[in-house]
Amino acid sequence: MKAYDGMYIGGAWRPAAGQDVIEVVNPADEQVIGTVPAGTAEDVDTAVRAARAALPDWAATPPAERAARLAALRDVLTARADEIAETVTAELGSPLKFSQAVHAAVPIAVAGSYAELAATYAFEEKTGNSVVHHEPIGVVAAITPWNYPLHQIVAKVAPALAAGCTIVVKPAEDTPLVARLFADTVHEAGLPAGVFNLVTGLGPVAGQALAEHPGVDLVSFTGSTAVGRHIAAIAAGQVKKVALELGGKSANVILPTADLAKAVNVGVANVMSNSGQTCSAWTRMLVHRDQYDEAVELAATAAAKYGERIGPVVNAKQQARVRGYIDKGVAEGARLVAGGPEAPRETGYFVSPTVFADVTPDMTIAQEEIFGPVLSILKYEDEEDALRIANGTVYGLAGAVWAGDEAEAVVFARRMETGQVDINGGRFNPLAPFGGYKQSGVGRELGVHGLAEYLQTKSLQF
Ligand code: NAP
Ligand code: MG
Repeated sequence: MKAYDGMYIGGAWRPAAGQDVIEVVNPADEQVIGTVPAGTAEDVDTAVRAARAALPDWAATPPAERAARLAALRDVLTARADEIAETVTAELGSPLKFSQAVHAAVPIAVAGSYAELAATYAFEEKTGNSVVHHEPIGVVAAITPWNYPLHQIVAKVAPALAAGCTIVVKPAEDTPLVARLFADTVHEAGLPAGVFNLVTGLGPVAGQALAEHPGVDLVSFTGSTAVGRHIAAIAAGQVKKVALELGGKSANVILPTADLAKAVNVGVANVMSNSGQTCSAWTRMLVHRDQYDEAVELAATAAAKYGERIGPVVNAKQQARVRGYIDKGVAEGARLVAGGPEAPRETGYFVSPTVFADVTPDMTIAQEEIFGPVLSILKYEDEEDALRIANGTVYGLAGAVWAGDEAEAVVFARRMETGQVDINGGRFNPLAPFGGYKQSGVGRELGVHGLAEYLQTKSLQF
């Protein structure tokens, strides 16, 4: 247990304004592993002022030099990958191998992609008798969740810095340690003072103060739809731009021509990965009625294999919430074929990998985001029915389509109301725009589209 001090503001660790701390708990064994200061509106104000003060110079820094700093950041992230993975495992509970392969590795790829984009992006273009300049939007407030704690920070910080913006980050209260480690990597990478600032604290206190701060030009938020709506309302009052990455209830559509076993196995792995705490997880599996029973059996077998390997969910509240959804599924008449509401271990916030069959589209477990290792398998009659079910939620973040050939899957995918679709198990691409249709969000992250979120245009006529 270690008491961490200070906020990273203006290029140094500075004492927090108040005395309150947040306890950081390892969800695998429920031990308190550290404390961090609980930031106040005063800390937020100091951080925003530091970001504002650093803005003119950073915005005027040639893109090639910004690119060089981002490349240095990528290199420090690479050098410290083991430490990052261990930290995420300690505060989020994810198995170390997953922390290495995803939580530590993806931010390296994303930082690297923005080092390249900063160097190559056309910050100036011509149209007719105009020259259009893409200028940084200003001071960014980034409010991030705990489920991919470093990725979600880097997916905002890297494009913001590439664009020439400065930033204040308020990480999730459950995962502040990797955020602090990131502040150290930024420092080591030689970013100028004030370009990046970190304030740890509680959402309704530090997060709220940051979203409300008049010195912030753009609020980039990842988290729940409820908090996203609240932040968008605050921003609307001040005519601030917002980018929102919110919840999801994505469909994994298995068309009759697909390789059923592969589609089901990859689908189960997708849901169980990160203990089901992935906003883009394919939590609804849609199977043709003729293949339904076989798919259910395959999924139950696949889920049972995850029993030993899966990590805990992030905290006791989340564990209770997920188990509440499992109870609700049973109460509404879905059939449990793997897992269930009983905690598989006495210590740690573990939830059994759970699969429900006979789920109908109107059930709570088919509509609401559970954010735990829970898969619902739904039956469809024909393709039109599958499409209605797939599109039948308020969300539209991601999804998957499986078919005998890619062209058939693409035709279906184009009709889905969602921001990202994996075709026959397509791989993660750090350059592909990520973001939601409908209530899954506003704006896009990653790649060139993610960079554009942090820019505003000025046109000069000749
Ligand atoms: P959350 O409660 O919405 O929290 C997200 C962030 O907002 C945290 O830093 C939180 O601080 C802060 N916050 C809470 N209340 C606030 C307020 N009134 N003003 C300003 N900030 C506030 O979400 P979560 O429970 O941490 O994360 C799970 C949710 O995030 C799921 O719904 C999931 O789908 C969604 N998510 C979406 C994406 C995406 O890209 N679309 C990615 C990951 C997660 P505290 O930590 O102190 O609560
Ligand atoms: Mg929260």
